[in-house]
Amino acid sequence: MEPIILSEEILTQAREWQDECILRQNEKSLIIRIGEAVLVSPVDGTSNKVVLYMCDDLRNGGKSVKGKTLIGVYSVDGNRVEEGGRTVAVKKHLPPAELRRALLHELTHTVDPTSEGDVQKQKELYEQAAKEGRPVFNNELYAMPSEQRAFVTMLMEDLREDLANGLACGAGVVANRYKEKSKEFDGFIGGYCQIGHPAEYEQALRHIRQIVDELRRRAGNGTTPSERKRGHS
Ligand SMILES: [Zn+2]
Repeated sequence: MEPIILSEEILTQAREWQDECILRQNEKSLIIRIGEAVLVSPVDGTSNKVVLYMCDDLRNGGKSVKGKTLIGVYSVDGNRVEEGGRTVAVKKHLPPAELRRALLHELTHTVDPTSEGDVQKQKELYEQAAKEGRPVFNNELYAMPSEQRAFVTMLMEDLREDLANGLACGAGVVANRYKEKSKEFDGFIGGYCQIGHPAEYEQALRHIRQIVDELRRRAGNGTTPSERKRGHS
């Protein structure tokens, strides 16, 4: 499976939304409509309307989460007003670095063609778990292709800063660095990939390498190893 590498257009939109979320985090409303945009998927070129909300409390199957993506466009009072498009919600009062990762994680879902099926699967998982009177296990979520992509792609802006600051960005080094910095990333890499899922771990490392290569290319630091292999000059 190839990684999802967000376009500069999507990353710019995410920065604008992040600034808006921070500006408005002291508003009293429980649900704040931050904005909407049409995002073009870097995977298949399809356009999707995405509406962003910031919420006081955000839950998935009873468990507090930092971000969430729904299929369809929802109004502020919770009615689905459009079948197509996506609705993203992020939690209020997240520290900036966590808000940025949560936003990029969810925006990755909005442009991932596999996420629609996974959202349906997740719904079934939560219903099944509720019937069995247990929580949904994180490993059940990490097994989904759309989650395996989003947990790496959410680091794109962190990695851009790391490169600009001259930090080592080998895939293994990056994996260890963000296990320390992000509870969510640690859950995925440390709790799932590194415990009994070697193929998924290798895939995550490969995705990190591809994203770092692309960020280097965008920063104009010359050709990347993968480009040289493909014969570009
Ligand atoms: Zn996710």
